Amino acid sequence: SEVLLEVKNVKKYFAVSDGPFFSKKKKHVKAVDDVSFQIKRGETVGIVGESGCGKSTLARLINRLITPTSGAVRFKGRALTGLSPKEIRTERQHIQMIFQNPYASLDPRKKIEALIMEPLVIHNIGTKKERRKKVDEMLEIVGLSAYHGDRYPHEFSGGQRQRINIARALVLNPELIICDEPVSALDVSIQAQVINLLKDLQTEFHLTYLFIAHDLDVVRFISDRIMVMYLGKVVETGTCEEVYRTPQHPYTRALLSSVPLKSPFEERERIFLQGDVPSPIDPPSGCHFHERCPFAVEQCKTAAPVLSEYIAEHQVSCHLAGQI
Ligand code: SF4
Ligand code: MG
Repeated sequence: SEVLLEVKNVKKYFAVSDGPFFSKKKKHVKAVDDVSFQIKRGETVGIVGESGCGKSTLARLINRLITPTSGAVRFKGRALTGLSPKEIRTERQHIQMIFQNPYASLDPRKKIEALIMEPLVIHNIGTKKERRKKVDEMLEIVGLSAYHGDRYPHEFSGGQRQRINIARALVLNPELIICDEPVSALDVSIQAQVINLLKDLQTEFHLTYLFIAHDLDVVRFISDRIMVMYLGKVVETGTCEEVYRTPQHPYTRALLSSVPLKSPFEERERIFLQGDVPSPIDPPSGCHFHERCPFAVEQCKTAAPVLSEYIAEHQVSCHLAGQI
């Protein structure tokens, strides 16, 4: 099926001053460092990694909230780089975001009718009557039809507020929805409900998702393909099935080994990582992961591995892929 989004060799470097504030010496944080991938229509691609790995920056680059340092983002074959602000606004109708915090992203002074209607008002779509009708439809499809639009966000639970955010994202009939940790702030019992809703909506409206999370379990349930990121780079990517069945990169395996087991009969290797994610200002030489990697060999300190095909539909960036 059609490639909806193409990200090609995208880099985002931020200048930061190193040392005292008056220092002229500038260093760069490579928040996103040469990332390429495609999303086909109707597909869900999951991005996983610890905070600071570049996944949120990547989301903002795709949604044109920030501009890449280099590389291209193409939506339906059209470059999003170099568009005028007006063109960006039009494109944004088709790409919507759902953010992590359902509390912070809804203006507490606005009634939910106004909140769900807002994107229609901004994009000047429909008459007042049509917009009202659309809001009712949206409340229905996100499972809040029992409520009236004249309530305020504080009258809803966290899970319900995330449903309101989903309604807001869907009201413009977008083609791509970027979900940036949409369930991370919710109770575990509520997480599954929201994920199920997203899955149902995907089937019903043929949506395409880019789904960002730090939790591999969440991504597994919804994604067709996944990408694991570490310090701005993709370290492993493949179909969800492949990556979960035979994870190759030690970082992926460490993330998987921290997911609680579902039954006492399930067995899984345990890999414990040493230390925290290093500062992206001065990332370790060679493989950025070598200081934390239990398998690191001498070569890892000096030579950076490149993302390469391990088997079809499964790429890994590790010198020892297939040997450990
Ligand atoms: Fe570990 Fe070396 Fe592979 Fe990096 S390249 S993940 S340090 S084994
Ligand atoms: Mg984030």
